Amino acid sequence: MKKLLFFSILAIITFQSCKNKTQETALAQDSIAEFPYVDAETAKAYAAGATCIDSTQAELKKSNFQATKKLIAFDLDATITQHKTQMSPEATATLDSLARYYHLVMIGAGNCPRIYHQMNDYPIDIVGNYGMQESKVIDGQFKIIREDTAQIDKEWIKKECQKLREKYGYTDYAGESVEFHKSGMITFGLLGTQASKEDKLAFDPDKKKRLVMYPEVLEIFKDFSVFIGGSTSFDLAEKKYNKYDALMRYAQENGFTKEQTLFVGDDFSDGGGDSHIRLGGMDYIHIRDYRNFPKRMEFLYKK
Ligand SMILES: [Mg+2]
Repeated sequence: MKKLLFFSILAIITFQSCKNKTQETALAQDSIAEFPYVDAETAKAYAAGATCIDSTQAELKKSNFQATKKLIAFDLDATITQHKTQMSPEATATLDSLARYYHLVMIGAGNCPRIYHQMNDYPIDIVGNYGMQESKVIDGQFKIIREDTAQIDKEWIKKECQKLREKYGYTDYAGESVEFHKSGMITFGLLGTQASKEDKLAFDPDKKKRLVMYPEVLEIFKDFSVFIGGSTSFDLAEKKYNKYDALMRYAQENGFTKEQTLFVGDDFSDGGGDSHIRLGGMDYIHIRDYRNFPKRMEFLYKK
């Protein structure tokens, strides 16, 4: 009897360990065989249960996403357009094609009017400032329908930003050092608010300059969500505001589930504006070059 019990326990332990091994192997094969170009962020997305797709995977997912997705949410800068640059006719036509089959929404870091005008007044719902603001186009009229505000200690923030400038050598800047949005969101742009678009674009395309400072910025502003936003800045918002929570709120209010929702963005690495989407385990498409946006979207609407 004792012997039987011993062997039963041994069998269970062996079975469990094989099962874990099988799961590990499956995940590894997923990353290597089915998704040959998986990067660190994508690997973390798998761990969080999300389906992250790349151009090589688009066709694989075609039938599945066409059947299951109802709501598509987009980031704007570096996803649909170049940073702070008007939307192209090709990107506009792509949104028109998608809108025939899906409900579309913008989930942005910028405020709603900025996003709306950068899209050449394209009629689309916009959730701005990581969820603090929301707009709709009603009868051809752009309307802000929700605007949350947060109280912040401006003087303290300015002082802390100045200390960071001195420590990291960014005391030379154009315009204001810190931009305080009406919502209470804060943009700390290392080149200042009035730097030229060219200077901003050339400043830190690989984010290395800001990544050096990021741990310290996080530590100082630990009561905020801190994003390595735009091309030169850190965006700070109240902790509860981030793209995942903003999109989930919008989805729920409009009758969509998480499974029916797909996010399209460019910036999923840690500290990135779209990072919470990955951390939240939502399905997303990673756009690596905004010029490929129209091509990358085709599989979602082509029959
Ligand atoms: Mg972006």
